[in-house]
Amino acid sequence: MPKPSTRKFQLSPTKIRTFRDCPAKYRWEYIEKLGRFYRRPKPYYSFGTSIHSTLDAFAQAGGPSVMSVDDIVQQLRLSWVDAGYASPADAKAKLAEAEAIVIECHAAALHAETTTPPDERPELFATEKTYSQDITPEVRLTGRIDRIDAYPDGTLDIVDYKSGRMSVSEEDVAGALPMRIYQTVVKHHYPDRPVRASIYAVRSGMIASHTLSDTERTDLIAELAEEGEMLRNKDFTNILPVFNEDLCDECDYRPHCDRIWKDQRRRGWD
Ligand code: SF4
Repeated sequence: MPKPSTRKFQLSPTKIRTFRDCPAKYRWEYIEKLGRFYRRPKPYYSFGTSIHSTLDAFAQAGGPSVMSVDDIVQQLRLSWVDAGYASPADAKAKLAEAEAIVIECHAAALHAETTTPPDERPELFATEKTYSQDITPEVRLTGRIDRIDAYPDGTLDIVDYKSGRMSVSEEDVAGALPMRIYQTVVKHHYPDRPVRASIYAVRSGMIASHTLSDTERTDLIAELAEEGEMLRNKDFTNILPVFNEDLCDECDYRPHCDRIWKDQRRRGWD
């Protein structure tokens, strides 16, 4: 007799956003697992992944005192993902754009290193690491974090790289569900340490931070526990796609939904 599954329901920021955006997309992605048929590489994902990997390697290597500007550019070329671009020329132009970004990141890191007294400098605590927290007996909240810096006063600063935006404010960080989730799961593992989250807009070098209060964290866990249980138990059989002009044109599942809508019209459902 097969053993009952002991795997908890994983609730990630992406899963939550997918359901909130479009329940049908959640059904195709997580219930029917149709992604392998429909998911297509996107240039902005490739661009972001390339920069993330480069900055990850830069942080792990020890920053600007270990990696030169030439090293970081070389690392970018090694990490470069060119899937999804319209043409080789397009990919080449984006690589040049990415090179300018990582050179600026190197300069910013060097400036921070040379202007911050040694006893105030953060140390790299973690990169590309998943933290989780059980928020009901069956639901596990998870978050994959780009980087955590540890400050001499004990503060853990969760750093999220954003390669598509020029500016960021404290309100942006406070309102971003992933950043709130990251703080929650890290605080769960390090309850005695101050935890904050920062978004690093790598195109401009702008950084903004926010700290979730204990009450906000408790409220978020209650909200997500309810949402997680709902998603875990929901019957998606009758969830059908509803056209959304902000989402459908860019959605990988559009051909699948188009077929359903065509069938609905044929049957005279609309
Ligand atoms: S095409 Fe539109 S309706 Fe269909 S899954 Fe995507 S966002 Fe949802």
